[in-house]
Amino acid sequence: MSEERLSFQTEVGRLLHIVANSLYSERQIFLRELISNASDACDRLRYEAITRPELVADDPEYRIRIVVDKAARTLEIADNGIGMNRAALVDDLGTIARSGTAAFLERLTGDARKDMAMIGQFGVGFYSAFMVADTVAVVTRRAGEAEAWRWASDGKGTFTVAPAEKETRGTRVILSLAADADEFLEPARLAHVVKTYSDHIAIPILFVEDGAEEKINAAAALWMRPRAEITAAQYAEFYHHVGHAFDEPWATLHWRAEGTIEYTALLFIPSTKPFDLFNPERKHRVKLYVRRVFITENCDGLVPAWLRFVRGLVDTEDLPLNISRELLQANPRIARIRSGIVKRVLGDLARKAEKEPDAFAAFWDNFGGVLKEGLYEPSEHRDEILALARFRTTAGETLASLEDYVGRMKEGQSAIYYLTGEDRAMLDQSPHLEGFRARGIEVLLLTDPIDEFWIPAVRSYKEKPFRSVTKGGADLAGIGEALATEGEPVDVGALLALLKLALKDAVKDVRVSDRLTESPVCLVADEADLDIRLERLLKQHRQLDEASLRILEINPRHPLMRALAADVGRAGAASRLEDAAWLLLDQARIMDGDPLPDPAAFARRMSAVMARAIGG
Ligand code: ADP
Ligand code: MG
Repeated sequence: MSEERLSFQTEVGRLLHIVANSLYSERQIFLRELISNASDACDRLRYEAITRPELVADDPEYRIRIVVDKAARTLEIADNGIGMNRAALVDDLGTIARSGTAAFLERLTGDARKDMAMIGQFGVGFYSAFMVADTVAVVTRRAGEAEAWRWASDGKGTFTVAPAEKETRGTRVILSLAADADEFLEPARLAHVVKTYSDHIAIPILFVEDGAEEKINAAAALWMRPRAEITAAQYAEFYHHVGHAFDEPWATLHWRAEGTIEYTALLFIPSTKPFDLFNPERKHRVKLYVRRVFITENCDGLVPAWLRFVRGLVDTEDLPLNISRELLQANPRIARIRSGIVKRVLGDLARKAEKEPDAFAAFWDNFGGVLKEGLYEPSEHRDEILALARFRTTAGETLASLEDYVGRMKEGQSAIYYLTGEDRAMLDQSPHLEGFRARGIEVLLLTDPIDEFWIPAVRSYKEKPFRSVTKGGADLAGIGEALATEGEPVDVGALLALLKLALKDAVKDVRVSDRLTESPVCLVADEADLDIRLERLLKQHRQLDEASLRILEINPRHPLMRALAADVGRAGAASRLEDAAWLLLDQARIMDGDPLPDPAAFARRMSAVMARAIGG
């Protein structure tokens, strides 16, 4: 087989373009990315070699070598890890497997500074080599296989793959440095970069010059060192490596559990929200090690889904090395480690929530939506999560806990009121809030989709039931101060009957409202029906065919209602009231952000009413 030329996946092409043009300021990070990959490759082989020791029999000592050739202007990062066969080479260095990549790249703006911040949380991994190299060659041989392959590219849309010669397993990444990247030929500069970013790598990194080798890292598992000996910067660099992350850790949790089960955990909570947090395929990112040997990063039972933002690793003494990945999940020791992790993380969050409320608010904005999934799933941690939960409310900009809310409840108030919706601005405008605002009753404003699901599951907090302000009768009469109204309500008995008659099967009922002070109408759900937004979500996901009928509530103090009530019985009122009935219903739908079932009829009635008003 001879050389073949292949195209990068479109997404890779776009990423490479950004890498070449905008990541300039921190380009030394390419070295940590390549070393990180080399270290991962050694980890993966070490795991395979547990069951196939022949793979490493000829060369059992793992290492990473950095080789400089000043004359040729090349920098090489070589490992004796697992290596790649042809298929892996084309796949891993030609595509980005992460789901959501295309959507992520869509969001880039073209503004270098903004894009860089975004790319920062995405990570460019191997492709960062093109920040310093004109061309990159990869010569690699998969452990246990006879053929070797050479991949090469200038990062401009295509790459070549051809058979190659390589005596030993592993991968050599050879960078032909760009004219302005001389600094990376200097041993002192390279050693400094390795020390700064890769000192924590657990296998030796050797610097090779003129045939002489020198070890430049500590080469011991960082997580086994005592906490006092690890600096914040070292933790942060380790986080970048183990979490494939590019931001700074928001929290670092490092502890050793002794007793019935022994393990060391080094976990990080990110400070930024990963772009794929709500991707259905996204799993947690906690790696499992057994006695310093990497086993897997997909151990399903190790961390619950509602802590999937946590990154890092767990290293245990108490599992056999040769346990199959499939059997791990069911292992009771994994379940024990999981409860240890959950306890620790929730405990740490509770401490932060108490001691550093502002920092905690930043965490909550990023990951509250995920943590709340733990309220919905059957979990013995419901109370702890409820205590951590923070909410935007009608009471102001600061996040409130349920404890805060309950402490501020009005005389006579027995429920915790909430309103759910897509975004904050829309919620703020909702007519459903008017009566609550007028009486100074605080309402939780919920915008995460999961809110629709955990509330019915949790039902109450400290014996106070959660109640949607869009559901059932509001019964506000007994709560808080009396309503400061602009006028007495008029008798709307006859008007109600006529509206009901006009709207017939389009609504479940028409009734007088307790919750409106400014708007003429709103739609509410019957006590027994699903909450309006939940129903909408279920319909979107095709879990529900028919939406249930709503109740139209009218505000008897509103001037429009007065006018309509006074009109009843006058000549020609029947057709005017019929138009008004439908327009009011459509208006309420618009305020809820619902599409109108018959926009043409709406437009026709609206025009007729305007024409009459203008006297045409
Ligand atoms: P990530 O490390 O986050 O997966 P990278 O872009 O750094 O992303 O690397 C892409 C993939 O290429 C890796 O997941 C791995 O499968 C493969 N790869 C990169 N470098 C090596 C190497 N030195 N040895 C073996 N495989 C490698
Ligand atoms: Mg990588």
